[in-house]
Amino acid sequence: MRNLILLAVQGAGKGTLAKKLKEKYGYAHISTGDILRERASVGDELGNELKSMMDNGQLVPNDVIFEAVEYKITQPECANGYILDGFPRNLEQAQGYTKILEKLNMDAGVAINMTIPEELLVQRIIGRRMCKDCGAIYNIYNDQLKPTTEGICNKCGGALYQRDDDNEEAMKTRIETYFNVTAPVIDYYREKGILYEVDSTDSEVTLKSVEDILNSLGDKVD
Ligand code: AMP
Repeated sequence: MRNLILLAVQGAGKGTLAKKLKEKYGYAHISTGDILRERASVGDELGNELKSMMDNGQLVPNDVIFEAVEYKITQPECANGYILDGFPRNLEQAQGYTKILEKLNMDAGVAINMTIPEELLVQRIIGRRMCKDCGAIYNIYNDQLKPTTEGICNKCGGALYQRDDDNEEAMKTRIETYFNVTAPVIDYYREKGILYEVDSTDSEVTLKSVEDILNSLGDKVD
């Protein structure tokens, strides 16, 4: 059982990497952003509050996140291992997650810090499109990640959409939040001795680097 934490500023490719690792190693992919978007779509009071925070690029309260994460990681789909994408996002969340793991008698896992030049981020975020039906991720500014037909998913034919928070204003807030609030999480895991760094400019190279790390830890697949 392996638990991974992917740390990176939004748009660095956490979702893409997590999907590839899921295919290859059978780990469950836990995206707190996806969980929150699903909760927000209910359209009740909490849902609308969450949506407004997300659309503005603000972090939602920690207690909402802790409950969702603890529930998810104890589900059967996580029995082989799981990948956290978008959590922990601040030091309190990292400390809270350590407590959850201790309570559940689970290993601290591995934290992967994905680095990327800032100018590439803008293209990644503004060009991102997602499939409404299967969640596949595309980028209209990247030849490798462009859909074959504009607006249509290559995999399932579903319609592609742009996330409400993938705009320049929200992006600036998200990048700023990341550097102020999330960067200490990297130090937290470095001090714990479970931090690994990978360059995430090219998604294939990133995958290979993470596979090398997992292989060195004994998570071999054929
Ligand atoms: P993401 O899909 O990871 O980019 O997350 C989209 C939005 O969901 C973020 O900008 C936050 O508003 C919210 N969110 C996702 N994960 C967390 C988290 N761990 N803590 C607080 N807010 C989060």
